[in-house]
Amino acid sequence: MIERTVKTGFGAREPDFYEDLSDWEIEIVKAQCSKTLAALSKGKSLAGVIEVARKTADSADRLLEKILAKNRVALVCKIGCDYCCYLPVDATPPGVLRVAAFLRSQMDGAALSHMARRFSDSGPKPYTLDQDERAGFLAPCILLRDRQCLAYGARPLSCRGYNSIDVELCRSVVEGHRTERGDPSKIAQWRVVFHLGKVMELINLGMLAGLYRVGYAPARLDFSAALLISLKDPDAAEKWLEREEVFSGAQIRGGPEPGPRFWSRFMPEEGGPS
Ligand code: SF4
Repeated sequence: MIERTVKTGFGAREPDFYEDLSDWEIEIVKAQCSKTLAALSKGKSLAGVIEVARKTADSADRLLEKILAKNRVALVCKIGCDYCCYLPVDATPPGVLRVAAFLRSQMDGAALSHMARRFSDSGPKPYTLDQDERAGFLAPCILLRDRQCLAYGARPLSCRGYNSIDVELCRSVVEGHRTERGDPSKIAQWRVVFHLGKVMELINLGMLAGLYRVGYAPARLDFSAALLISLKDPDAAEKWLEREEVFSGAQIRGGPEPGPRFWSRFMPEEGGPS
């Protein structure tokens, strides 16, 4: 089982990611913020929060497909290929709560407890590390079984942003023997693939901006750690809805912590959804 530290760079953010957003990037964040606010305006409930996560993932998938088609890029990702499931996965509370609800609908309490215990007992985890350290830490995701995801349809945006056009490159990164930068003739296609990762980040940011507007702290969570909290505490969703800091033990440490001025850039005008 892979569980060690290599310099993958995945999970790290550009130092100025939060500040140097172009106009079109700001538009993506704003659009997602408005959609999140519209969904939340129907009331505060777990079903509503799950709906926010589902709609966000659906619109992210549609945008991703559009970008791939426009640039004529074909991915090599397929069922049973799990290299990216060893990379750090960021998530938001709605994304985590959606996966927890999905698992509860598919597995009984004993199976869920077994999964949580098995993961807890299996050694150090990325969530014990700060942002820079976790960018080089490889560990299997809590949901990885037999090289497949137990909740693929409900997986977080971060996973949707990991894509590839070269499986050998993925293998070499994760197995720690990467020696070259890949096929230079594919640079333009790789740019598109990395762009997909950034688009997922922006959509995530839009969701966090919407949550911020209605009073939720814009938490960036380690997915496995946050899911573990959700599975162990049956009241986690209720507590989060009541703005308790139920996910504080899964929060990614370090990195920028944007303040009110940053978030205000993405808010709809007064009179819009709030
Ligand atoms: S949630 Fe699923 S797709 Fe994402 S890293 Fe975990 S196993 Fe892989």
